[in-house]
Amino acid sequence: EIQTKKYSEMTKQELMQEKEALKAQYKKYQGMGLNLNMARGKPCREQLDLSMGMMDTLNSDADLSCEDGTDCRNYGVLDGIHEAKVLIGAMMENKPENIIIYGNSSLNVMYDTVSRAYTHGIMGNTPWCKLDKVKFLCPVPGYDRHFAITEYFGIEMIPVQMTPTGPDMDEVERLVKDDESIKGIWCVPKYSNPQGYSYSDETVRRFARLRPAARDFRIFWDNAYGVHHLYDGSQDYLIEILEECKKAGSPDLVYKFSSTSKITFPGSGIAAIATSLNNLEEIKAQLTYQTIGHDKVNQLRHVRFFGDLAGIKAHMKKHAAIIRPKFEAVLETLERDLEPVGIGSWTNPKGGYFISFDAPDGCAKAIVDKAKKAGVTMTKAGATYPYGKDPHDSNIRIAPTFPSLSDLKLAMDIFTVCVRIVAIDKLLA
Ligand code: PLP
Repeated sequence: EIQTKKYSEMTKQELMQEKEALKAQYKKYQGMGLNLNMARGKPCREQLDLSMGMMDTLNSDADLSCEDGTDCRNYGVLDGIHEAKVLIGAMMENKPENIIIYGNSSLNVMYDTVSRAYTHGIMGNTPWCKLDKVKFLCPVPGYDRHFAITEYFGIEMIPVQMTPTGPDMDEVERLVKDDESIKGIWCVPKYSNPQGYSYSDETVRRFARLRPAARDFRIFWDNAYGVHHLYDGSQDYLIEILEECKKAGSPDLVYKFSSTSKITFPGSGIAAIATSLNNLEEIKAQLTYQTIGHDKVNQLRHVRFFGDLAGIKAHMKKHAAIIRPKFEAVLETLERDLEPVGIGSWTNPKGGYFISFDAPDGCAKAIVDKAKKAGVTMTKAGATYPYGKDPHDSNIRIAPTFPSLSDLKLAMDIFTVCVRIVAIDKLLA
């Protein structure tokens, strides 16, 4: 039955009684031998099915030449076919001339971008590998794979607190101002991973006006969820950062990334970077050593499938129709089971792929372990922090998209039971 009294107002006796009832529920779930997963930010099968039409755009009769006559089956076109730049440019809100189309993964592009700075340096500055110390700012909680890239290169990560309007900009400005060893910051500016927050106009403008001590400081602006809205009538808007940097007199300050991973097929989409002409020139000079050109047939497939930005937008509405009920189910369960007892807090995003849950301090690891023992896999506690270390042991990322709605509901029922048991243990300790 539904508990209506806050745990903080319960006596020890009442808490122990509540725990016994929850333990009985937990045992029942454990006996079901479940294998449910809320860890992975992956589209579900129905979402992938939405893009099957893309496979029909090309067949053995198709003309695989692009608009300028280039035969897409052959080598060449280092930076991507023009019509793909036009399409992805429209999606990223950038001009085609500011874009390079890569292969299938934007994370790959981010890795390359760090790697190039590490081995060869940015615009004549000392390669990062030759410096004693290189640091990156990491808004937290954030995306574990960003942190993994900088950790791999031995770059020291400095956490900066995220807020509903973006990273704590006072802190960002203060840190980059005098410390030349701070070379970059990881940003997911729209529907952030994991909170689903979008940067406010003021935050974007302050980013564009940053005056870092390091001349080779770059903002790594990962706009992975730029068009991933959940609701028709209500969406977040983000000021375009390249234009804003140009206006602020620092056109080279930002590298912007995006991909169609969660639009068409993760693993078989197309990825891109958008940045200033100066930055692009440097990137292309390196790229000639790396490849003769990326998969142009796939670029063509995307262009023929979508046509234009309107095509992408219409497609994203179909995604939203599938995943919106899943986000709503997660929120309903949290509201039903945790709000009355006053335990935890969570975000309510208008887009993206995640809901961020904050347990009482010191509880996240125990909750994730407990859920695992009842057959529910969550993202590892701590994963949303550099080095996997959440100083409060509080944040848990919920990924609602992959499981079926019924699996998700069951998994969330189990999750909230685990949260309540661990929270009571903490109160009784
Ligand atoms: N950036 C963010 C913020 C993500 O959440 C993800 C996937 O979860 C990626 C990038 C991965 O992008 P890609 O598939 O283009 O490598």
